[in-house]
Amino acid sequence: MNPCTLCPRACKVYRSKGEIGFCCIADMPVVSSVGPHFGEERELVGWGGSGTIFFAGCNLGCVFCQNFDISHHCRGQQVTIERLAQSMLELQKYGCSNINFVTPTHVIPAITAAIESAKKKGLALPTVYNTGGYDSVETLKLLEGYVDIYMPDMKYSESTVAEELSNATDYPQVNHEAVKEMHRQVGDLQVEKSVATRGLLVRHLVLPNQMAGSFKVIDFLADEVSIKTSVNIMDQYRPCYKASLHTKINRRPTIEEFESVRNYALSKGLNVLG
Ligand code: SF4
Repeated sequence: MNPCTLCPRACKVYRSKGEIGFCCIADMPVVSSVGPHFGEERELVGWGGSGTIFFAGCNLGCVFCQNFDISHHCRGQQVTIERLAQSMLELQKYGCSNINFVTPTHVIPAITAAIESAKKKGLALPTVYNTGGYDSVETLKLLEGYVDIYMPDMKYSESTVAEELSNATDYPQVNHEAVKEMHRQVGDLQVEKSVATRGLLVRHLVLPNQMAGSFKVIDFLADEVSIKTSVNIMDQYRPCYKASLHTKINRRPTIEEFESVRNYALSKGLNVLG
């Protein structure tokens, strides 16, 4: 983090001196909310909900962000490592099925330190790394042994689209390498008594006009990761934030657009959730 090369942006700012890079967060994490969440995948929710910790800031600049007040305007409260560890223990006490770190890429050092502290005090739940998928392999290697479930987005197949919609030209290439590394660490998704315990769970949001390059995403998972990959093909895209300024994504995807992607994933033999 000093200079910061935690993620592929490599801003090289000195975050412990208070300098801020693309993600807009200095050295201490900023948390926007903590609590059980029942809107995640069934395999994560279980009976007590997924114990989400939402981090403010983000290393992507998606023009259609649904959480732009948190991710782009960085709304939240700065927390210490000990406070973060305490939050995990409180979520466990509440009965949550896991600890779900949402948008964690830019605060990995704080997360690993807090997990260590919480484990010493009895944390036993699986941890979920819930990321936009713009993660460097080098940094992901630091998470080995700390993360049980990787849940990356695979947003785009084409760099021109990634540049236009998320300000990240190299997203497809970076994302492919990241997903391979995640799968190397934890393998295919394992579910016990209907609740995920370990493995890779990929999220893919279908965009209108095939802007997400969905068929190539599915081909990559089936051909280069694992035919048993668990994938959630998501239909909830709606034009938020600045999406209305981009003509190809200023509407919801049609049912036909969504079904064609889902059916293709099923035809390839992937484990399509939902
Ligand atoms: S984590 Fe933030 S400051 Fe560091 S390289 Fe990524 S965007 Fe830049």
